[in-house]
Amino acid sequence: MNIKNYVRFEFQSIAENVSFARSSVAAFATQLDCTLDEIEEIKLVVSEAVSNSIIHGYDNRANEKVEIMVAIRDDRTLEMIIKDYGKGIEDIIRAMEPAYSTDGSRMGMGFTFMKSFMDEMEVISRPGEGTSVQMKRSFLVRDQEAYA
Ligand code: ATP
Ligand code: MG
Repeated sequence: MNIKNYVRFEFQSIAENVSFARSSVAAFATQLDCTLDEIEEIKLVVSEAVSNSIIHGYDNRANEKVEIMVAIRDDRTLEMIIKDYGKGIEDIIRAMEPAYSTDGSRMGMGFTFMKSFMDEMEVISRPGEGTSVQMKRSFLVRDQEAYA
C-alpha cells in the first residue's frame, strides 16, 4: 500500500526529548482522525521505545542520536521505526518477555506495552550496533464520507 505521508526526525538522547518525540508523533498521527484513546496509546508506545533507546541503548549518555520515522499508508496503517545506535540487545526473545528487565529497578513492561498497543512489532538489534523497533497498527475508517 502506498505511503500517504511520512516524517523522519532525529534528536539527542536526553530525557526531555521523550516528551518531544511523543507529542510530535501524536501530532502527526492526528491525520488518521483516530480517537483520543488511540492517540494516548501511540504516545505511550513512542515513550517506551524512546526511553529504552536512551536508558538501555545509550546507558543515559546524552550525546547520542535517536531516529524516528513515522508513516501513514493509504489503507490507514501507521508505521513507526524508532532506532538507536547503542549497545544493542543480546537476547531479544528474553527482552520481550513480560517483566524481564536487565535493570532490577524497572518493571520490564515496555516491550509488552508496545506489543499490546500495536498490531505488529519487530525488534532488530545487534550487540554493539544498536536497536531498531518497527511497529505497525491499522486504524478503522470512522467517517466514510471524509475518506471516500
Ligand atoms: P520498563 O520499560 O518497564 O521501564 P525495561 O525497559 O527494562 O522496563 P522493556 O522496555 O520491556 O523493559 O525492555 C526489556 C529489556 O530489553 C531492557 O531491560 C533492556 O535490557 C533491553 N532493551 C530494550 N530496548 C533496548 C535498546 N533500545 N537498547 C538496548 N537494550 C534494550
Ligand atoms: Mg523499557
